[in-house]
Amino acid sequence: MRRARVGSIIESGSFFVLLASEGRSAMPNRTAQAAALLLLALPTAAVAQRPANFGPQAREYISVDGAVAITNVRVIDGMGAAPSEGQTVVLSGGKITAVGPAGSVAVPAGARTIDGSGKTVLPGMVGLHDHSYYTTAGRVVQSSFTAPLLYLAAGVTTVRTTGANNPYAELNLKRSVDRGDFPGPRLFITGPYLTGPGNGAGSTMVGLNNEEEARRVVAYWAAEGVSWLKFYTGVSRAAMKAAIDEGHKHGLKFTGHLCSVPYKEAVALGIDQLEHGLFANSDYDKTRKPDQCSPNMMGSFSNLDVSSEEVKSTFKAMIDKGVGLTSTLVVYELFVPNRPPLEQRVLDAMSTDAKNEYLTSRAQIAATNSGIPLEIFKTGMKYELAFAKAGGLLGSGVDPTGNGGALFGYGDQRNVELLVEAGFTPVEAIQVATSNGAKVLGIFGQTGSIAVGKNADLVLVSGNPASRIADIKNVEMVFRDGVGYDSAKMVAAVRGLVGVR
Ligand SMILES: [Zn+2]
Repeated sequence: MRRARVGSIIESGSFFVLLASEGRSAMPNRTAQAAALLLLALPTAAVAQRPANFGPQAREYISVDGAVAITNVRVIDGMGAAPSEGQTVVLSGGKITAVGPAGSVAVPAGARTIDGSGKTVLPGMVGLHDHSYYTTAGRVVQSSFTAPLLYLAAGVTTVRTTGANNPYAELNLKRSVDRGDFPGPRLFITGPYLTGPGNGAGSTMVGLNNEEEARRVVAYWAAEGVSWLKFYTGVSRAAMKAAIDEGHKHGLKFTGHLCSVPYKEAVALGIDQLEHGLFANSDYDKTRKPDQCSPNMMGSFSNLDVSSEEVKSTFKAMIDKGVGLTSTLVVYELFVPNRPPLEQRVLDAMSTDAKNEYLTSRAQIAATNSGIPLEIFKTGMKYELAFAKAGGLLGSGVDPTGNGGALFGYGDQRNVELLVEAGFTPVEAIQVATSNGAKVLGIFGQTGSIAVGKNADLVLVSGNPASRIADIKNVEMVFRDGVGYDSAKMVAAVRGLVGVR
């Protein structure tokens, strides 16, 4: 999909920052406001609407399709506000048409009423690092069956895949979901990983040797219909620059799981987003050589002071250019000894082989006390909190890779729990995983919060995540574009199949 660059800058919430950084802040106030209004009227990122018809595989999981009123329910709006109690939320024609206290909201005739007593409505999550494939130490599996079902079952209604192992499998999955043939979240497809030369056998990444190659590869994937591309740890600055310049002409955005290029340099080259919080940033590695991934990067996080001038300087560079950061604490947690708590639902979703591979890896990390030291993991948490408190746009995702313990959807929920452990309040952590993600994708006008006029993308959970964040796991129903899906039925369908298909 194509979209105006200026539109996406606004949607990422950095319009005013950008004005200031370009020295145009002297513009008279009223002119600036008029310009902002005009720009806001520009088309935003195209969002797939609900299909006209659903095929049998999708209908299997749909429990409500039509006007709905959820009554007497607690609402967490996704914007960081305290929850509102005793609300009625009306969904009609795929949109949220009313939200308000009982009695103040007219329920349309014929609407199905759902009693929300003891329950909470929150926006569908926007997963920013939500691959359609899965790995353990023993397997890499394109998961076009289990990924979309489990994301949706866990309340993730939009995902960006953020690095495709098989881009055509992802493009075909997206088309299938958009047509209504298969149930799933709204998908933003990211093309193949762009790295440097020297990939080994079995790699599915593109090793960019020079700038001409970078431009050619990017133009090709733009034409094939991806909306983002992701740089990986070996890319050179020259290839990155050529790729970004070419891709921006086509309306593509770029993110990176970096190492060879530090964050501040990538920001200067025009990258739009950065993945993995602190854990892919070589800004602080004094041993680093230009264009090379240093083995000392992880060590450079030891004793890093997140309130130091060098960290503030990274944040300022990102915030000035409107570059967001994606939190994927959940995949790093897998390498911290004796974490995360083992969840039965996670083990139940895995195939026997995938489960054995995960449990073996987990036991090895614990027995040898290898992996990521807890102290560095906690520094990563502090870094994300400090970035957000400094005014940075932090989003959230799962990254269902590593040793296989972070699953589609369940891992997105776990990442929200980890953000709370990092010091965010529960409603702030939910904001990171909902409206902030929508802002990164340029679709905040359509989704990411509970507000009248937005797409009816929301999750009904039992309990109160604002006081007990683990309650975001108690998903009962998930609405995407106003269509209600039965979470338990989707969970049952993937049982034993993660790691197979
Ligand atoms: Zn990833």
